[in-house]
Amino acid sequence: MKPLGPIPASYAAIGGELAIAGKPVSHWVEQAGRTPLFVYSRDRIAQRFEMLRAAMPDRLKINYAIKANSFDPLLSFVSTLADGLDIASGGELEMVRATGFDLGRVSFAGPGKRDLELEAAIAAGVTLNLESEAEAGRALAIAERLGVTPRLAVRVNPDFELKGSGMKMGGGPKPFGIDAARVPALVRQIVAAGCDFRGLHIFTGSQALSAEAVIDMQAKVLDCAHRIAVDAGVTLPKLNMGGGFGIPYFPGDEPLDIAAVGAALEERFRDLPETLADAELFIELGRYLVGEAGVYLTRIVDRKESYGETYLVTDGGLHHQLAASGNFGTVVRRNYPVAIASRFAAEPAEEANVVGCLCTPLDRLADKAHLPRAEVGDLVAVFCAGAYGASASPSAFLGQGPAAEMLV
Ligand SMILES: *Cc1c(COP(=O)(O)O)cnc(C)c1O
Repeated sequence: MKPLGPIPASYAAIGGELAIAGKPVSHWVEQAGRTPLFVYSRDRIAQRFEMLRAAMPDRLKINYAIKANSFDPLLSFVSTLADGLDIASGGELEMVRATGFDLGRVSFAGPGKRDLELEAAIAAGVTLNLESEAEAGRALAIAERLGVTPRLAVRVNPDFELKGSGMKMGGGPKPFGIDAARVPALVRQIVAAGCDFRGLHIFTGSQALSAEAVIDMQAKVLDCAHRIAVDAGVTLPKLNMGGGFGIPYFPGDEPLDIAAVGAALEERFRDLPETLADAELFIELGRYLVGEAGVYLTRIVDRKESYGETYLVTDGGLHHQLAASGNFGTVVRRNYPVAIASRFAAEPAEEANVVGCLCTPLDRLADKAHLPRAEVGDLVAVFCAGAYGASASPSAFLGQGPAAEMLV
């Protein structure tokens, strides 16, 4: 027996089935007309924003990193709640453009921006978070050719990291950002070149559950930004402090204490140095905002035994749920929160492996899980599916194609 991850709070049963937005899962599957299906809850996303805003200082702005989930209706909804959107490609720029969101509140980070992407972003008034000196040169040249003043910020690769984070994106050699020691010179150069300087971006990692680690990281980010500004001889109009707020996915994970994070930040904001006194201060979050609001539903198409173990074979899998399968940045595979959605109220009665329909041993949704007895036709729910599910899985693999998605 292997434990399952914790099911996010307040999912309940109606008529024995898992309920989402007040309706049993069979209702949503019927509406969609097929499985596999992602169901995202508007209310859960709205509540998440509300909770977060209540915990954080009023001054702090909250951006949404759209790579977590760019499903058009969800993106449109989140863009009514977020202060800004963070994109990481020209493709994501087009997705944001389609929602009608104010492109002046969009910033574009990510290594390897191509000239066409830089051009589209500069022309649209998007802020570029520069990832290298060479990229800065290309951006300035493109802006000059277009005859516009580019909005430029510099992404810093700091000399510290987010402790305990699932994915480290700063501290030491990295393809992201510019080493902190070289940033002041670049800031002076782009300011002298006449850009609209939009400050700094310091993102150190993802999926932290320790408030202490986040508090420590944020304090270091503020100090680092201040030192760079002093060296460069500028005040900062904006500082994107990164994010890293995690959600519980695995057995034993505890939710991040955002009250503690907010209180510490409030304290820091009370006496900011002059370089940051007038700065717009941002955090950028993906999974924390939408992860727990999504459930992936897949139907059992076969039930079989092999050398004493039970396999529940579903019509879904890693092509929609790469992360739950354990193949998206995890070292040791652990179980996500998974349940038999059509028997949500039933007691566990057997040990079973839940697998996907792909012909690869990597396609696992739950190992040796203690579950109610399930039959062909039952629905399996994978929780925490609102982020890095559909947007981060290889849906073309084995010709399977994308899952259905709905915002309810
Ligand atoms: C991926 C990413 C995020 C969002 O990360 P989450 O863990 O989903 O919050 C934010 N900022 C940058 C720069 C990123 O690359």
